Amino acid sequence: MSKLRFDAIKESHSRSKIEIEEKGRRSELYCMNVFNDEKMLQYLTKDAYDSVKDAIFSGSKIDRKIADQVAESMKAWAISMGTTHYTHWFQPLTGATAEKHDAFFDLLPDGRALEMFGGRQLVQQEPDASSFPSGGIRNTFEARGYTAWDPTSPAFIYGTTLCIPTVFVSYTGEALDNKAPLLRALHAVDEAATAVAKYFDKNVAKVNATLGWEQEYFLIDKALAHSRPDIIMTGRTLVGHSAQKDQQLDDHYFGVIPSRVLSFMSDLEKECTKLGIPVKTRHNEVAPNQFELAPVFEEANLAVDHNLLLMDVMEKIADKHGFVALFHEKPFAGINGSGKHNNWSLVTNTGINLLSPGSTPMKNLRFLTFFINTIKAVDTYEELLRSSIASASNDHRLGANEAPPSIMSIFIGTQLSGVLDELEGVSQGKLSPEEKTELKLNVVGKIPEILLDNTDRNRTSPFAFTGNRFEIRGVGSKINCAKPMTVLNTIVAKQLLAFKKEADLLIEKKKLKKDEAVFNVLREYIKTSKRIRFDGDGYSEEWEKEAKRRKLSNNKTTPEALKVLTSKESLDLFKTMKVMSEVEVKARQDVELEAYSFHVQIEGRVFNELVYNHIIPAAITYQNQLMQNVKGLKEIYGAAYKKLAEGQLNIIESIGEHITEIKKKTDHMTQARKKSNSLLDLNKKAFAYCNDVKPYFEEIRSHSDALEKLVEDQLWPLTKYRELLFVK
Ligand code: ADP
Ligand code: MG
Repeated sequence: MSKLRFDAIKESHSRSKIEIEEKGRRSELYCMNVFNDEKMLQYLTKDAYDSVKDAIFSGSKIDRKIADQVAESMKAWAISMGTTHYTHWFQPLTGATAEKHDAFFDLLPDGRALEMFGGRQLVQQEPDASSFPSGGIRNTFEARGYTAWDPTSPAFIYGTTLCIPTVFVSYTGEALDNKAPLLRALHAVDEAATAVAKYFDKNVAKVNATLGWEQEYFLIDKALAHSRPDIIMTGRTLVGHSAQKDQQLDDHYFGVIPSRVLSFMSDLEKECTKLGIPVKTRHNEVAPNQFELAPVFEEANLAVDHNLLLMDVMEKIADKHGFVALFHEKPFAGINGSGKHNNWSLVTNTGINLLSPGSTPMKNLRFLTFFINTIKAVDTYEELLRSSIASASNDHRLGANEAPPSIMSIFIGTQLSGVLDELEGVSQGKLSPEEKTELKLNVVGKIPEILLDNTDRNRTSPFAFTGNRFEIRGVGSKINCAKPMTVLNTIVAKQLLAFKKEADLLIEKKKLKKDEAVFNVLREYIKTSKRIRFDGDGYSEEWEKEAKRRKLSNNKTTPEALKVLTSKESLDLFKTMKVMSEVEVKARQDVELEAYSFHVQIEGRVFNELVYNHIIPAAITYQNQLMQNVKGLKEIYGAAYKKLAEGQLNIIESIGEHITEIKKKTDHMTQARKKSNSLLDLNKKAFAYCNDVKPYFEEIRSHSDALEKLVEDQLWPLTKYRELLFVK
């Protein structure tokens, strides 16, 4: 066994069992490190408090004097908590978060030292961020970018640093991050949904999109993870024969959480609670060493920030507990990968969930309005929604018979399908009194009862209605939720605007009553969005064929999925909804294409190291041992050796064949990589990596895994699946 593998296994076994400390009320820790409403009331003047609240509610600007006051109070609070630095915390297009710390410490002209932090530092900063991907925006326009305070997401203290959530934009105003477009999309859906919600309740003044994410992840012992160059460099195993037992017995799912893991979780939850992340659910997932964590849902912008923060905190706490947390969508072949379901709904400032049916027919009509409009929006923009969850790592998962396919469809269950079928039969124009009574009492009026016993769930659907919310299931575990949330909220906003226009027209021109107008428009939507509804097995081949007949897109790879971003329809959508300009959309497409190529390129390079420096040398060493043995037998037994050495000779030959093949495939892959890399066009390059380089990976892997089975265990250099995957 290689020394590295041996030492890693020894170290992982020696990890002391940490006692679990789970005492104490979590509610007392909640938001301890957040400059939330309670702290604002305590630290801000009334003017400043009102101004920040107004900015959160209506997006109004905070003037400089007030910003100075807020900064002064934040500083006082942060310093009282032992904080020494502050940072603008932002989300560049890398998908992760970025921060650059500055000390409060400063010198006055007379040489005195002081802790300083003013409105200017709070509101705007100019990080030297020229190395972040910008898709050329900063080359075309201004070289610099700046970060600007987002008051809708409260500042928080992490370690000894005050973190201020910010957007990251160029000097000419183009968004260089994932947060700015999300905020614009949330504004769009707020305006559109508020206007429609007013049909049913005049008091509604604001609608917030909500998000409850469910984060799946793997935990691997740190020493073991570090013994594998592929895990460290790419976040996944590129080779590795499956363990004799993995998830076939379903004995991990919802099983007893191993004590070492529980201790980590408990620490993590405490830290999250202090940071205001309302962590609620924890459990074992399907694959060995796979877990899930879910919070109570929140307003979408805050929830996105909290998910990004969680991933960061999780990595740090995992390290403290001798683990590495893997967020890659497919770290291990042959067992389930990880996703991040995005539960989404729309909630009014009056506390009503617009995707939740109510106790009266009118409330249910409101529910149906938002429900059917969402279906219609997804039907129109299914391909765009698919593009928002595309990434090199998520490509391994979508459609791999464990996660929803790359075809978008909506599952609503048989009972709600029945309701939509009945509504479809509603006659056009004015409704007779009998029709109205029938509809209101027997169709719409029955919805809450239906939902109560609506237990049918379909895990194979990428977009499912789950009682009072929709759940996007194809989102990858590593992805910034801002991306799918931006698209979903934009398309729903666009759809609600169209709906309102049509319904208003019927009310004004055709003199229909409000409910009649709503019924009429919804009926048309039910008819025209039928193809997106599918309740069957999303993993089946028949669905793939059926989806093709329905003309639904089926983009299996990232380069294919990204194409739609710059279609005329997509560009128009983002422009009219004021979410992104053409330049901003194109920039994102470029950044994503480039990231894709880099990911495949890095994996290709790691394969080279694995094959040449680890796998082939181990195989040759073992082959030499066998050859020594055969030579010895020949020496002793003469011509009779053949009978005795048949097995050895067989293995020697098999190893030789695999070495020849793995070397050949690796060299061809390297040539393909060089060719792809020489292409200048980002689109062509991504397609070349996808179609010409990536297919070699599976072939190389199959020879490596075959060799792993042949070579003596002691000689195999790479920590095996059965060693990596079972935490004790
Ligand atoms: P399941 O695994 O059965 O889908 P979980 O309890 O793991 O359920 O996760 C459900 C998630 O849905 C939680 O994060 C929860 O907060 C969220 N959720 C519930 N209601 C809403 C809603 N109205 N809007 C957004 N998210 C919601
Ligand atoms: Mg769940």
